[in-house]
Amino acid sequence: MSIKAENIKYVYSEGTPFRTLALDDVNLSIEQGDFIGIIGHTGSGKSTLIQLFNGLEMSTEGKILVDDIVVGQDKKKLRNIRQMVGLVFQYPEYQLFEETVAKDVAFGPMNLKLNQEEIDKRTKEALELVGFNYDRIKDVSPFDLSGGQKRRVAIAGVLAMKPKYLILDEPTAGLDPAGRNEIFEQIKKLHKISNVTVILVSHSMEDIAKLVNKVVVLYKGKVHMQGTPKE
Ligand code: ATP
Ligand code: MG
Repeated sequence: MSIKAENIKYVYSEGTPFRTLALDDVNLSIEQGDFIGIIGHTGSGKSTLIQLFNGLEMSTEGKILVDDIVVGQDKKKLRNIRQMVGLVFQYPEYQLFEETVAKDVAFGPMNLKLNQEEIDKRTKEALELVGFNYDRIKDVSPFDLSGGQKRRVAIAGVLAMKPKYLILDEPTAGLDPAGRNEIFEQIKKLHKISNVTVILVSHSMEDIAKLVNKVVVLYKGKVHMQGTPKE
């Protein structure tokens, strides 16, 4: 089971004067259980690439395979793929809008049309996976939380969908060092105790070197290097 990118090209605004080749012949493979970092400078194509992984965007050329399903080939499978490949956007706290933490986390599973008992169970599990005491956090307003705590709630919201692959786009952007630590520690534990495959997008090798077992370096839309953090 894996996510594979085969000969991916992605062009923004094809046919306009502003045409940008954001991804240029990208090939990579993410195996189940991996904890992989995707790093690169601003504009190197990281966010574009991960949006192809869950079918939010379609590549201009090449294909993405999620567990051997070609993303986008069968439109009916897109819903499935989006559930399998959970994506936490940069600054996800702006998507918290319910009056309690529990309601925010339950939002995703509610759309999966599960019964209430299953929704409650998943909400509790997801909040515990990101390090909260469920009974203490469930009725708190998301607006009363710290930056790091809000991020963890947003991550729980995606985990409640029970993704096989969890993609985090710059999960520590804009946090202070304490907030950064909090997030990295929780992600590390999460990868250890659940069997979710984690894909961590970051600007900085330094930040993620101690966490991940594999790194892909993007440079101007191309895979510049891949290997272990040491390599
Ligand atoms: P950052 O670290 O700043 O988040 P990134 O590595 O995620 O950068 P992308 O956002 O994937 O990079 O952008 C890759 C390239 O595509 C850049 O040249 C960017 O200017 C361009 N680009 C991104 N989004 C769009 C868009 N909506 N329309 C046109 N060009 C875009
Ligand atoms: Mg980005």
